Order: sequence, then C-alpha cells, then structure tokens
Amino acid sequence: MPPVARDSGGQLAGFHRMGDGIVDFGWSPRVTALREQLLEFMERVIYPNESVYEEQLTDAGRWTVPPVMEEMKREARAAGLWNLFLPDAKWGAGLTNLEYAPLCEIMGHSLMAPEVFNCNAPDTGNMEVLAQYGSDTQKSRWLEPLLRGEIRSCFAMTEPAVASSDATNIATRIDRDGDDYIVNGRKWWSSGAADPRCRVAIVMGRSDAKAARHEQQSMILVPLDTPGVRIVRSLPVFGYDDAPHGHAEILLDEVRVPADHIIWAEGKGFAIAQGRLGPGRIHHCMRLIGMAERALTLLCERVGERRAFGRLLSEQGVIMQWIADSRVEIDQARLLTLTAAWKMDQVGNKAARKEIAMIKVIAPQMALRVIDRAIQAFGGMGVSDDVCLARFYASARTLRLADGPDEVHREAIAKLELKHQADRKKIVGQGGAR
Ligand SMILES: Cc1cc2nc3c(=O)[nH]c(=O)nc-3n(C[C@H](O)[C@H](O)[C@H](O)COP(=O)(O)OP(=O)(O)OC[C@H]3O[C@@H](n4cnc5c(N)ncnc54)[C@H](O)[C@@H]3O)c2cc1C
Repeated sequence: MPPVARDSGGQLAGFHRMGDGIVDFGWSPRVTALREQLLEFMERVIYPNESVYEEQLTDAGRWTVPPVMEEMKREARAAGLWNLFLPDAKWGAGLTNLEYAPLCEIMGHSLMAPEVFNCNAPDTGNMEVLAQYGSDTQKSRWLEPLLRGEIRSCFAMTEPAVASSDATNIATRIDRDGDDYIVNGRKWWSSGAADPRCRVAIVMGRSDAKAARHEQQSMILVPLDTPGVRIVRSLPVFGYDDAPHGHAEILLDEVRVPADHIIWAEGKGFAIAQGRLGPGRIHHCMRLIGMAERALTLLCERVGERRAFGRLLSEQGVIMQWIADSRVEIDQARLLTLTAAWKMDQVGNKAARKEIAMIKVIAPQMALRVIDRAIQAFGGMGVSDDVCLARFYASARTLRLADGPDEVHREAIAKLELKHQADRKKIVGQGGAR
C-alpha cells in the first residue's frame, strides 16, 4: 500500500478582502490544536486500520459492523474528537463552519474516517435537524443516541417514480389519522438504511396536496422497526456496495407512526430542508478537498519512484502539468469553500446560498479531475483496489448527483446572479456597466 497523505490545507493566514467584507482564514488556537490532534489520530489509528476494516467487513459477510470501527470510535470520543461538525455548543463542539472546514478536510482523506469521529453523512444532517427543529421527546429518543454514536439514521427523500431533484415532486403520502400519521410510498438511495445500527429514517412526504407549493411537504421520523417498513434492496454505486451502510430502496406500506413524530410541524419539509442541506452539503465539499489532497500526494509519490523510457515519470512534462493543475485547482476550491463557510457563519445559510451552490458545483468536479490524473499516473494499479483511488473516484462522482445535480445548482447560481445584476442596474441606472 503506498504511503498516505500526511497533511493538507496550508494555513491561509491573515485577512482577505471579499466582495462582502474582510475574511480571516487564520486558525484559532483551538482549531490549531484540534488539527494537530486529528492529524496524529489519522496517522496512528485511521490509515493503518483501513485495510483491517475492509478485511473484517469481508470476513463477516459485509452487512455487519467491523469491530475495529467501534474500537476507533471509542478512542476518538475519549480524545474529544467527536461531533466536531455540530455548531450548537449544547450538543456538539460549537465550532463555526469556518473553524470546522480544515478539520473536515482532514477527515476527507479517508472514506472511513468521518464515521470514526461521528461526523458522517447522513447522520450529521439528521442530527442538525433534530438539534434545530426536534421536540424534547425527539431529542431524547433519537438525537442523544445519535450523538453518542450508538445508533445510525437515514434520510429518505428521493423516490424512483419521480424526478426527485425537484423536491416538489415527492409523492410519498403522510396522512393524518386520529393521533397518528400513515405513511405510504417508495424511496430509494436512502444512504445508511441498510446498516444494522440504523434505527430511524427522516422521511419527506406530502401531507397536504392543496397547500401552497412549498408547504405541501413534511418531514416525519419513522423508526425502521415500524410494521410496514421494508428494506427492499441496497443499490450499488459503480459496483461498490458501500457496506455496511448501503443505499437502500425502502417500501413504506401503511406505516403508522404517532403524530408527535412529525418534525417541527406539518408543511415544514422545505423550511427544514433549507436548514439541513446547507452545512451538510458543504461538509461534502470540505471532504472532497481532503480526498483530492490525498490523491495528489499519492500521485506525487508514485511518479517520483517509477521510471519509464529512461526517466522518472515525475520528469515528464505532461505529468508536471498534472501536478501543477491539481495544486491550482485544489487551492481554488478550498478558497471558495472557506468563503462559503465564512459567509454561512456571518449571514446564515440562506444568504450564503449562492456560495454554497458554487462550491457544490466546483468541489466534486475538481476532485474528479485530480483523482483521474492520479489514476492515470498509477497505470493499471490506479483502477484496482490496491490503492484507494478507484473508490475515491466512484464516491466523488456520486456527489455530482447525491446533493442535487450540478445543473440544479448552476440554475440557482444563474438566477441569483441575474437578480444581482438587475438590482445593480436599478442602483446605477441604464448603461452602468459601460
Ligand atoms: C450515492 C448516492 C447517495 C444518495 N443518498 C441519498 C440519501 O441519503 N437520501 C436521499 O433522499 N437521496 C439520496 N440520493 C439521491 C439524490 O439526492 C438524487 O439522485 C438527486 O437528487 C437527483 O434526483 P433523481 O435521481 O430523481 O434525478 P432526476 O431528478 O430524475 O434528474 C435527472 C437529471 O436531470 C437533470 N436535471 C434535473 N433538473 C435539472 C435542471 N433544473 N436543469 C437541467 N438539468 C436538470 C440532471 O442532469 C439530473 O441529473 C443519493 C444518490 C446517490 C447517487
């Protein structure tokens, strides 16, 4: 196994002027200390156990939890490297998005790492929803065990029957019946639902077809052991099963849950989604930067030791160009991610939606280009499982879809830009651009 990336994300110290003000990307003493702790943990615990995790998973038939995962979680929790994602200090580490960014990036070096630190999707987004919108009962029943890493959860919005990138299409029914709701529908791509520790789904569905378009949908907690819930299958991603979490197709057939399982209130599905999908999606971008950093490190190490046609691969001009382009693109994406994180902290997720959409377009495509160059530099080994690159590629490719397709984010950016230009014109008048 080739050596691994030791660090990434050189500090962007000092102040940078952005369109909206002055940004300080420097690390606080707390973040500096957490980074050092995290880097040491990655070296000592995570990287050496990646192959152990895979072996245990395969030996046990894949849909069980490898014991090494729970051992690593215990150690991370005892070290205070736990729930770093949650900005609410009552429930989590209380870091801002900007503070969490360099830490999340380090976790992105390994596909296994985020779970070790209880910072994995989709549980992070679900915990944020429960912390922000959950009732006291929902918090004690679901949020607290999730925060302790004892159970896992899934988020079930996407449906096979409708174009789910437009969430107004979601057709699962959530109907009130006395003191209960009855849920009927078919979901797929519910990540994590196949995990034996997954106990609850946050299900999005239509509770009032006559309400205004963005008030028709609700989110409801559905315990997976409720009669009528059936995991039909787990969908592979480019052939990878992503065990033990999986991406499940779930049938919800006359599923009856008490009325107090609704989150916040009926019709609040879109309002919650706005909150949920902001930070969670930007975490994917932070991790993609870490993934790209590891790919670039692997590339550089490989080309520095392999010779072809009388010289090292690193002496080939084209390969030097790949290295240079990769460094430029990673650093560009990091700056944009930090800008989005800073803006979310300063003015909130809604006001930062253009920056969030921009980074969601850029980060997966950047990571795919860097990983692809590394695969090419590795030759045949690059597409094997002897190095993490093929798996990284599959994972990064899904993120051009899994958080909403690129095209939808681009449309959002364009609409916001057009509005900004129209507002500008009103202020400076016709001909202002000239
Ligand atoms: C690995 C993985 C994990 C996932 N995890 C989850 C999960 O945990 N929970 C969950 O609910 N869902 C999950 N998803 C589902 C994901 O969110 C959806 O696949 C995504 O939102 C797109 O919906 P769709 O598949 O129905 O595609 P559709 O809505 O049918 O869209 C298909 C294509 O149409 C095009 N398109 C759509 N809108 C526009 C537009 N405005 N302009 C131009 N072109 C457009 C795009 O190219 C798009 O890819 C996951 C998906 C994957 C692959």
